Amino acid sequence: MSSLVDAHVHLVDDELKPYLDWILSSCWLGNVIVFANGMDLSSSKLNLEFSLKHYFVKAFVGVHPWCALSFSKIDFENLLKENVGHVFGIGEIGLDGKYVEIVPMNVQKKVFEEQLSLAERYDLPVNVHSRRAQEMVIETLSSYRLSRVLLHWFSGDERMLKRGLDMGFFFSFGPTLVYSKSTRKLFQKCDFSRVLVETDAPVAYGVCFEGFTSSPLLLSSIVYTVSNLFRKSLEETLNIIWENSQSYLGRRLLGDE
Ligand SMILES: [Zn+2]
Repeated sequence: MSSLVDAHVHLVDDELKPYLDWILSSCWLGNVIVFANGMDLSSSKLNLEFSLKHYFVKAFVGVHPWCALSFSKIDFENLLKENVGHVFGIGEIGLDGKYVEIVPMNVQKKVFEEQLSLAERYDLPVNVHSRRAQEMVIETLSSYRLSRVLLHWFSGDERMLKRGLDMGFFFSFGPTLVYSKSTRKLFQKCDFSRVLVETDAPVAYGVCFEGFTSSPLLLSSIVYTVSNLFRKSLEETLNIIWENSQSYLGRRLLGDE
């Protein structure tokens, strides 16, 4: 059976709080699996709590580059050790070239590298942020033996996309695929066996989405767009994304718990 999979969501974000029960019950009703990413230690812990309560929430733990100043290696490693088997991956981690005035790049890089070492040691997939730092992110990733890397909301150029594909990375595409010509152009250069879909909820998207707070329920529009761009049926598209999501995770999405 194939379900929809949102490869990158921030379920415990304050903006989603008023709608959270509705989102969770809609995910359950609509067979939507979500990879819930952390921003810091406390949101990572909450992801773990949610994943214990809801089989369709897969907990990722991670300290985002925006929160890198709060990173404690000991606390983060303890969280991983205490939750082996419940942590599905490490994310959201990475580098953000637009945020360097608030968190200096050397701090972001150190925190990214510490978390990559742990991903390597625990053999976990990583969910990576690379805004305005794609080259440096790919360079940094190349120093680690990571079997499952997802570059989420990738906005690099075709050369960098090709480099990521050559390194075996996955790429997740979100609501911008529905309306952005440049995202569609990049998407069409991607290998379908490496494509995942995501919403990065609660990010609010413009154009046809009119600035509403997003949720995993936007996935159907994205999957519809993917099926049109790849000229495959919706069913075939769903199956491929489902298989890709499992390959990235390195385990089955249903039935292993
Ligand atoms: Zn995110």
